[in-house]
Amino acid sequence: MSAALDSSPTNQSAATMDAVRDVVRRQWGFTSFRPLQKEAIESVLAGRDSVVVLPTGGGKSLCFQAPACCMDGVAVVVSPLIALMKDQIDALHENGIPAAFFNSTLSWNEKKDVVDQMRAGKLKLLYLAPESLLTDEMFSVLQSVQVSLIAIDEAHCISSWGHDFRPEYRGLKVLKKRFPGVALHAYTATATERVRQDIATQLSLEEPEMLVGSFDRPNLFYRLEQRCGGFGQIVEVVDRHPNESGIIYCITRKDVEKTAAALKTLGYRTAPYHAGLDARTRKKNQEAFLTEQVDIIVATVAFGMGIDKSNVRYVVHTGMPKSLEAYQQESGRAGRDGLEAECCLIYSAGDVMRWKQLIKQSDTGYEQAMAALDGIDRFCNTLRCRHQLLLEHFGQSLDQSDCQACDVCLGQLDEVDEPLVVAQKILSCIARLEQQFGGDYTAQVLTGSQDKRILVKGHDSLSTYGLLSEHSHRTVRNWIEQLVGQNCAEKYGEYNQLQITELGRQVLRGKHTPQLLQPAPESKKSSRKSDPASWEGVDRGLFESLRDLRKQIATEKGVPAYIVFGDATLRDMARRRPSTQESFLETHGVGQKKWADYGNQFLASITDYCQQQGLAMDVAPTETPQPQRTPKLNASAIVAFPLFKAGKSIAEVAQQLSRAESTVCGYLQQFIQQEEITDPSPWVDTATATRVREAIDAVGNERLKPIFDHLAEEVPYEQIRIVANCLQQALGTSC
Ligand code: ADP
Repeated sequence: MSAALDSSPTNQSAATMDAVRDVVRRQWGFTSFRPLQKEAIESVLAGRDSVVVLPTGGGKSLCFQAPACCMDGVAVVVSPLIALMKDQIDALHENGIPAAFFNSTLSWNEKKDVVDQMRAGKLKLLYLAPESLLTDEMFSVLQSVQVSLIAIDEAHCISSWGHDFRPEYRGLKVLKKRFPGVALHAYTATATERVRQDIATQLSLEEPEMLVGSFDRPNLFYRLEQRCGGFGQIVEVVDRHPNESGIIYCITRKDVEKTAAALKTLGYRTAPYHAGLDARTRKKNQEAFLTEQVDIIVATVAFGMGIDKSNVRYVVHTGMPKSLEAYQQESGRAGRDGLEAECCLIYSAGDVMRWKQLIKQSDTGYEQAMAALDGIDRFCNTLRCRHQLLLEHFGQSLDQSDCQACDVCLGQLDEVDEPLVVAQKILSCIARLEQQFGGDYTAQVLTGSQDKRILVKGHDSLSTYGLLSEHSHRTVRNWIEQLVGQNCAEKYGEYNQLQITELGRQVLRGKHTPQLLQPAPESKKSSRKSDPASWEGVDRGLFESLRDLRKQIATEKGVPAYIVFGDATLRDMARRRPSTQESFLETHGVGQKKWADYGNQFLASITDYCQQQGLAMDVAPTETPQPQRTPKLNASAIVAFPLFKAGKSIAEVAQQLSRAESTVCGYLQQFIQQEEITDPSPWVDTATATRVREAIDAVGNERLKPIFDHLAEEVPYEQIRIVANCLQQALGTSC
């Protein structure tokens, strides 16, 4: 879903927008905008204050960097991290854009040089931390030059409601007064409405344009695994990504050391990173990761802030993070370049206990921290689409029922036989324990544990003692969490005691059957990575040899490898295999400066490889495939097809296959596409279908939300999707 650079309607800023498009193509080598980039750039060009909320990797930087190149004067960019500034400036220089940073790491002479360049009108962007900007000296320098715009990166740092409040950001309040007439643009990946409003208020923005993108990261594949054997599970993930960059997060420094050492012994190129290492070692290890001397960094969460590496292909959490916000941020470091990446969270019930102890020991925000922990605990133990759950947490929802990019939606988990019976045994045990005990204890009773506590309390004489003894404690514990996740039981009190909900009582009466899953051993190893669209037509051997060349250049120049060329660019090169300057410049992400700096080296390498392998060059340019939700059939979906053909309703199919209706709706979409069905009437009544078609005529079918809104939220998403899908089949187009 990207807006083609040349397909924009003309508007009041058409001339300048054309200039921006031209710069984006020439300097960055991009041929399309990511969602909301065009709108954000339009605000900048129109001089209207804005708050732009896009997820990590959404492409916020381009929103101010590109227009800054076309506007008179210098753009002031406020950024909280000095460590990040150098990489950003390096990346801009690599694209031939005159930019500089100004901070405490510069010598007096270097600072003077930056000021001189700015006064001579030679800089298009100046990056500063708030401390460097908010000084009388800097104000007087900036007031003597033309400031084109002020961009505030990581703007949530100004809000005490955000997760990363920085008091020095509060000083930015004065900018509106100090620079009257200069528009302020705030950029953040923090989604909550409260933070967004607070940013606008704190900065005194004037009628700002609020642009809030979708927080879904369709290129990230989420997989959750119960920890069983730990290290072997980590190796499994790493082996799915040979020679690719990955981050492995551990909760403690000791775990970092142990895991890094064990991986090294097995021959993986890895380095540890945690706050206990001296600053030199940390820097060395970080640089080795950025220049791709090592593939894997094993780290505590101390690693990552200020790391922009765009081609991290996987992030493994070896323990539960402390909150969903933290998880979103840490896992979000994968796949910033928009290409497919895996986020694997390996957790156990014990992690919750560990966090609780840590929270108790710390003296800040006990209740908030416990609530956040409960959020991630629920996420781990709820069997619904992971993308959907994450989005819901941030107040958004997924337009489709099946994300095609998580273990739940890809059917990598097995249904438990007789879920009703299992659930009744668990809930009865909660009742027998008089709703006074937590999940761990209840699971112990159900599995017939000889734990002293159980014997002392006489719970070994309960009728439910040992009812599930053929299963492991971990499995039963997990089922309990699944029941909590499905609102059949709930936790209360300081010790998370369990009590039965109204829905749980219906389960006990046999009136409601919850869904209980366990890992499907066979499908566990399957991964979406087997046929991602972004690898289509790419010669893997050539890609690897271009990676080697990139690594060599990055090491020589001392810059991160992704700054030389991103993975998307290398894949496109290995797909098109250009032989001339002209065709090289058509590669995604290659601008004039990069051609001048590296063109000949890469052309020579491509030519050599193609000659050796007898490969055709200058392969006709195809559209660069964007990672997207491509329908993929899984075994359960195929089983559902004959039932749809036999005219069964969604509810009937769900009942027959013991799947949730939302899952079955996903199968139905695949069925409609596979069979090219154009008539929605078996599933949607005629009047509703007509209304949906009229709404599509009015607002288009690019996204479902506008259609839903247009229909006054009266028609469920699933029905809209069925009609839209049938319409697409009729028109023979895809949106
Ligand atoms: P954010 O700051 O929102 O996390 P960045 O600005 O770092 O994201 O951009 C993430 C990645 O996306 C970078 O590698 C950047 O070059 C790339 N990118 C940004 N805009 C586009 C675009 N229009 N087309 C292709 N790649 C883009």
